[in-house]
Amino acid sequence: MLTVEEARGRILAGFSALGTIDVPVAEAAGMVAASDQVAPHPLPRFANSAMDGYAVRRADVVDVPARLRIAGEVRAGDPGDLEVEPGAAMRIMTGAPVPPGADAIVPIEQASETDGEVSIEVAPAEGAHIRPAGEDVAAGDRVVVAGTELGPGELALLASLGLSPVPVHRRPVVAVLSTGDELVAPEVEPGPGQIRDSNTVALQTLIAEAGGEARVAGAQPGGGVHDELESVRSALTDAAKGADLVVSSGGVSVGRYDFIRQVVEESGSIDFWRVAMQPGKPVVSGRVGDVPFLGLPGNPVSIHIGFEQFVRPAIRKMRGCTELLRPTLTARLASRLEKKPGRLHFVRVRLAFEGRDVLAIPTGAQGSHIQSSLVGCHGVARFDIDESALEEGSEVVVEVWKLP
Ligand code: AMP
Ligand code: MG
Repeated sequence: MLTVEEARGRILAGFSALGTIDVPVAEAAGMVAASDQVAPHPLPRFANSAMDGYAVRRADVVDVPARLRIAGEVRAGDPGDLEVEPGAAMRIMTGAPVPPGADAIVPIEQASETDGEVSIEVAPAEGAHIRPAGEDVAAGDRVVVAGTELGPGELALLASLGLSPVPVHRRPVVAVLSTGDELVAPEVEPGPGQIRDSNTVALQTLIAEAGGEARVAGAQPGGGVHDELESVRSALTDAAKGADLVVSSGGVSVGRYDFIRQVVEESGSIDFWRVAMQPGKPVVSGRVGDVPFLGLPGNPVSIHIGFEQFVRPAIRKMRGCTELLRPTLTARLASRLEKKPGRLHFVRVRLAFEGRDVLAIPTGAQGSHIQSSLVGCHGVARFDIDESALEEGSEVVVEVWKLP
């Protein structure tokens, strides 16, 4: 059986960054820059005032209080090309260009205006309250590196520099296929033996959070794809159309009605199935036609863990991200854990920050059907393949999904 790292290595080898599209900055949130972005001009583009106040010549206000004639006004958006003559000052607003001749701004709070004159109370330092051109970014600076996820900060800077539209990688379309005769939609009252489908919404949410575009395939009125060869066959074929990746839930194990592997084998190929992990061992990796396919076992926690370990990194690789995996931190385990050696266990934990210490608190029962173990969960502690016990207080590596 493959280890998690081996399985992920094999899966990721089958993916690369998707094609590039040019997208206006206002629509590029969460997308990934496809090339380095270089400033075409400095930022600020021109020297401008950081305060509402008076643009002055410093030489005129060495001895204070000093009285200067008000020669005019520069507002934000004005060209600011009128010179401040010796002995004069100009009213200036925040963001307005510093007029020629002026070499300091005196804030309104340090001046008083009467009869067309201003009295300056405090001598300004050289360049006081002036934001020089290029203070932030010089022309030619690389402001965003290829592979960067574009958030509000990056997008705002690109906007300031006129770097819109911006070349980004296309988002992957990920088809979701939930199988199971027992499934009904969340809004439906289940009949005897039926359960509500929770994996579809879990996968949709996980895909969206990972930056993919989820497309639910094969949904039948009131539930999942039936556990029949023909239904699974046509649902998988449909799911693969126009998808960059197909992810399925359930039907990958050794039950009589688990048809996923058979259908994937027939319609494409299987690279491997089963990974030495818990929860989520019977993962299937393959292709439907030439579309990559990942089949996750149906238990609700298995879906989540399998997604984190394999699907999320694959989506991020398609998006062009440089970082594919979650960050980890070392934490102290809050309670003793035991298991049989042979599989890497992913223990759902909450994190608590106590001074310099980080505590990893298991979220209760860890069975692959215990959905409540995912509520308020900050990530998973790795309980390594060969280990059988972790003492309370021992150090564990936690893959962090979110911080408290
Ligand atoms: P399977 O992998 O198909 O053998 O399913 C394993 C377990 O997960 C069974 O108890 C199923 O009833 C349950 N299960 C399968 N699919 C879903 C789903 N979409 N939502 C909730 N539970 C599911
Ligand atoms: Mg099933």
